[in-house]
Amino acid sequence: MIVVKSLEELSNNPFTSPFALVPTMGNLHEGHINLLEIAREKNFLPVVSIFVNPLQFGPNEDLDKYPRTLDNDLEILEKNNCHGVFIPQENEILKNIEPLEAPFADKLCAKSRPGHFNGVITIVNKLFEVTNPQACVFGMKDFQQQLIIQHLIKTKQYEIQFLSAPVVRDTNGLALSSRNNYLTSKQRTEASKVFTFLSEIQEEIKLSFKKQKKTLPIDLDTIKDNYVQIIENKGFKIDYLEILDSKTLEICQNNSTKILIAIAVFYKQVRLIDNLVVDLSSFS
Ligand code: AMP
Repeated sequence: MIVVKSLEELSNNPFTSPFALVPTMGNLHEGHINLLEIAREKNFLPVVSIFVNPLQFGPNEDLDKYPRTLDNDLEILEKNNCHGVFIPQENEILKNIEPLEAPFADKLCAKSRPGHFNGVITIVNKLFEVTNPQACVFGMKDFQQQLIIQHLIKTKQYEIQFLSAPVVRDTNGLALSSRNNYLTSKQRTEASKVFTFLSEIQEEIKLSFKKQKKTLPIDLDTIKDNYVQIIENKGFKIDYLEILDSKTLEICQNNSTKILIAIAVFYKQVRLIDNLVVDLSSFS
């Protein structure tokens, strides 16, 4: 496994092409490892970057306590035959960085975490510039982030193939996340109800769609309002629950085919996000 820690080392093109960059903040779990598999399925060598990006954390967020487990991460990557790892120095990455503004600034996570995606896109852009990958892999768990990175690739006209990886969950359905480490195993079981709620909403949408003879609009607002109540009553504090067109993140229209159900909740003060996409075309 090739481990690169400086821009100088990077300038010698240490990674073998074609490779896919897999940006992470470390504290790796099965969700991250699956991104490596997606890269390989498409015949790209996986190169993982590990960088806890200070620009994507708000002033009252968990930057300081975010889990940093570099030695263990390297062991996991080695075991999973990762081709390369890039562990940039913060000062090198931030030096002369071009600040970028992310689209969808008034949607979902961007609303409750102002500046978060500007921080993400600024660093991912820099990682693209310095590593020069042929592809990149991002997880569906961060749905809005995926749209934003696809937009970055388009506007900058990068020749980087975008690969999307499905959400990896634990046996109870809880989406794997480094932030799950803040919860006890009992709390994680409780937190997996978030996925149960999403699945129930998905079923309701499918049922309404069938009842309405496979046409939109379904009364998505009623479904949503109903579930906001149910979820809050179960001890979760909802940041947002939205049912939107998955391409535009706007309210669903008659021609919407893929509906995004996206949620962010606080459970025991830990912010958890998850989503499901309902593909209506599969019913028509
Ligand atoms: P992070 O280290 O949390 O910044 O995540 C790095 C990458 O891993 C992002 O593309 C995430 O979307 C992806 N990722 C994290 N958790 C999961 C998961 N449970 N399933 C799929 N992808 C994930």
